Amino acid sequence: MQNNKYEINNDGFYGNFGGQILSEDLKKEYSKIAEEFLKIKDKPEFIAELDELLKTFAGRPSPVYYARNLSKKYGAEIYIKREDLNHTGSHKINHSLGEALLAKKMGKTKLIAETGAGQHGVAIATASALVGIDCDVYMGEVDMIKESPNVSRMKMLGANVIPVTKGTKTLKEAVDASFEAYCKEFKTAMYAIGSVVGPHPFPMIVEHFQSVIGREARGQMLDMIGELPDYVVACVGGGSNSIGIFNGFLNDETVNLIGVEPLGKGEKLGDNAASINFGRVGELHGFKSMFLQDEKGNVADAYSVASGLDYPGVGPKHAHLNEIGRAKYVTINDEEAIDAFFELSKTEGIIPALESAHAVAYGIKLAKELPKKTKILINLSGRGDKDLDFILKKIGKKY
Ligand SMILES: *Cc1c(COP(=O)(O)O)cnc(C)c1O
Repeated sequence: MQNNKYEINNDGFYGNFGGQILSEDLKKEYSKIAEEFLKIKDKPEFIAELDELLKTFAGRPSPVYYARNLSKKYGAEIYIKREDLNHTGSHKINHSLGEALLAKKMGKTKLIAETGAGQHGVAIATASALVGIDCDVYMGEVDMIKESPNVSRMKMLGANVIPVTKGTKTLKEAVDASFEAYCKEFKTAMYAIGSVVGPHPFPMIVEHFQSVIGREARGQMLDMIGELPDYVVACVGGGSNSIGIFNGFLNDETVNLIGVEPLGKGEKLGDNAASINFGRVGELHGFKSMFLQDEKGNVADAYSVASGLDYPGVGPKHAHLNEIGRAKYVTINDEEAIDAFFELSKTEGIIPALESAHAVAYGIKLAKELPKKTKILINLSGRGDKDLDFILKKIGKKY
């Protein structure tokens, strides 16, 4: 029952969004990656190898937990897909394993990646160690200081962490630097992007490897309660964990799909990272999508308390699902996310990542408004260990 209006076309577009804004040289290389990926992805040996690693190395399937205490308190049935239980602490291991295996099969000897908070860097360094391939991770100097435990992890795993000292010394410059390095080394290296963004075929590749979340979740809901959820809620940075879970339910038109964007400190440009709610159509990092921009069309700085959501654009498939109305995009601000962080920790005994807390906050909002029998499935993209120091320093005294 595949529905083509949700699928990517041969030119790498989802509806009006996506594409491949690149030099001719790189276009050739990217087409080669696309070709190789399409050839490999359905091969029984590749599927078997990836499945085995997802199961025995990453810990899949991640369970769906019926949140008994939240459900009782807020009066709806709340279910949580536990991506926080994966090896390395988030959904990022799903696409990292896929990208590392793909690079190895293509005869590449190195993966090049960018990282912001270090979650993608740790997952890629982990996958590189596992498949036996070199790994260069570009990271802004400011982020390296803020996220030093993740820098240590990457080094422990054998990755080279390369400081980026340009501009604001954070994620956007790290993307620029890693892309620049990749352009020089593309014959022997592969770029391992951290979300469903960038030029075609990367959104398609990351989407493919993340779709395991939705495939599992759909089956798990049917096994548990014999029904599909009424709502599926996930946070949206670049959009990989949300696309991963949405894909399991896209053709079930009764299931409402909700992407939660970070409203940060407010609606002003520079205070949030809600690219669909406050952005416009534009181009950055080689693809067409919705981006936060000033009146002149310059891409603006993004902000969220959750550094994993702090990107001024969004994956092209989300821009498309928004345009055709299949998914709805809402916002949650820093304060609401932090409240949900504590609420899930104290009520259910699960400490969420600050990113995932955005989805939890909106799930609770829905539960308060909707009839008691409404079934809400929240994707918990990651665990909160990485955020504890920050939370304690910033606001710990209040609690
Ligand atoms: C990176 C990250 C995100 C944001 O990335 P998406 O591509 O939007 O999923 C969300 N949650 C966690 C825990 C992350 O590490």
